[in-house]
Amino acid sequence: MRILLTGAAGFLGSHLCDRLLAEGHEVVGMDNFVTGNRENLVHLVRNKNFTFIRHDVSETITVRGKLDAVLHFASPASPNPASPFGYPNLPVETLKAGSLGTFNTLDLARINQARYLFASTSEVYGDPLEHPQTETYWGHVDPIGLRSMYDEAKRFSEALVMAYFRSKGADTRIVRIFNTYGPRMRLDDGRVVPSFIQQALCSEPLTIYGDGLQTRSFCYVDDLVDGIYRLLLSDEHLPVNIGNPTETSILDFAETINRLTGNTAGLDYHPDQRLDNDPQRRRPDISRARSLLGWEPKVNLEEGLTRAIASYKEKLGMK
Ligand code: NAD
Ligand code: UDP
Repeated sequence: MRILLTGAAGFLGSHLCDRLLAEGHEVVGMDNFVTGNRENLVHLVRNKNFTFIRHDVSETITVRGKLDAVLHFASPASPNPASPFGYPNLPVETLKAGSLGTFNTLDLARINQARYLFASTSEVYGDPLEHPQTETYWGHVDPIGLRSMYDEAKRFSEALVMAYFRSKGADTRIVRIFNTYGPRMRLDDGRVVPSFIQQALCSEPLTIYGDGLQTRSFCYVDDLVDGIYRLLLSDEHLPVNIGNPTETSILDFAETINRLTGNTAGLDYHPDQRLDNDPQRRRPDISRARSLLGWEPKVNLEEGLTRAIASYKEKLGMK
């Protein structure tokens, strides 16, 4: 297939590029670098099956030649207002990527009669009142809260994708991605995995927001990419959760990182930095991914964190 992938210079986008190329596809990457990084694509510069277009997906998209698939991953993704790369500091950009960007990529897919895959998120469930989260849960989202620019853009995009599927015959897919981590995340976008690992490698205490009892379920990037690839090849048009169902509190997660890095600086509590709308509990129900795609994660947390720590060490120039 010849595939357009928006958000190609980001964390997930660059790993997806690698997988799609390894599977023998041709990839056209698109990104405007608002949160992404050229370094993530440097290794592909000489790959004859990879081309790159610098472009903002909120503007009309033109790609020369026939496309067989369009994957829309372009969007800021960190909720942390302390980082300039967090979506609270890019509110209009985030809403545009998840509205105009979705229109533009859907239209391109339709014109090309290409299959389409949208990168949605567990944030469509908001601060969930049902646990674990199944795809049939409608969510608990504050439409004007501090995460609303992201949550509502993704919810709007899902509605738009389903409208194109139901009324325009578009061949669409929606993946609801739960917290994913691994090499190539920005160290400075404020998400918990790169923040904690960087702090630990610098022998600093890890910054715990709130009481640290909130939970997340962390998926290693290779597992996620495999689930997304299977969904792309499938004929499933309703949303599918992809994530690791092993749930951990942020406190336990921090202790694990300190243990794996040998950091003795402990924890630094920021009870007031509890971000508004910060989901209390999050864990995917992956029954649909298991039955429809034959997928489940293979990399456990310690193994994944060990790989991520090694890659961040290298990024920080440490041996
Ligand atoms: P990222 O910030 O590393 O990557 C996003 C990429 O999109 C960046 O390269 C950025 O420059 C690009 N981008 C943003 N707006 C753009 C625009 N208007 N035009 C062109 N490019 C634009 O984040 P990520 O973690 O790789 O997330 C990728 C996608 O997956 C996002 O849509 C995100 O919502 C979704 N997602 C990620 C996670 C996760 O845990 N990583 C969880 C849920 C959903
Ligand atoms: N968090 C934290 N310290 C940090 C960064 C994040 O305690 O330095 C917490 C944050 O409040 C949230 C969880 O870790 O409860 C996951 O945050 P992240 O930004 O990675 O993603 P989210 O799942 O909230 O979108």
